[in-house]
Amino acid sequence: MNKKEFSVILFNGSQDIWEEVSKITGLNFKLDIDNLPECRTRENGVKQYSAHDLLDYVSKNSERGIGVVDVDLFIPELNFVFGLSSPSKQASVVSTARLGNKRSRIIKEAVHELGHLVGLSHCYNSDCVMHFSNRVEHTDKKGKEFCKSCRNHLKSKSL
Ligand SMILES: [Zn+2]
Ligand SMILES: [Zn+2]
Repeated sequence: MNKKEFSVILFNGSQDIWEEVSKITGLNFKLDIDNLPECRTRENGVKQYSAHDLLDYVSKNSERGIGVVDVDLFIPELNFVFGLSSPSKQASVVSTARLGNKRSRIIKEAVHELGHLVGLSHCYNSDCVMHFSNRVEHTDKKGKEFCKSCRNHLKSKSL
């Protein structure tokens, strides 16, 4: 990956992880602080916000970027999501709501969503940051770096 700039839209929290995320991904980030926009919500034990609506907002407000929220996210077909990305919209969103304020988890989930954003799928290598996780135990177990195969895949996209 080259040093093209990505926008980080901080709706809430996690200002201090981006230097490390930059080291891992090779991307440069420009940080913006914004208010959580109007979007669909639902009640599911806690108030949840539409990940799709937030993706659209990030997409409209940056050339390519990732939004960070501390509220819980949902997509209609799942109970909750840690994050969501759309390569076609060049946008990601990540939620810290279920990550217990742990820096290492937030870094991994942010790197993971950025991996999706630039076109990576889930990886079978359980050490790889692109390994699927929907539980923090799984997030804790995997590494924060891309495995060799994912790294090669990234290079081939010559971002
Ligand atoms: Zn994923
Ligand atoms: Zn991998």
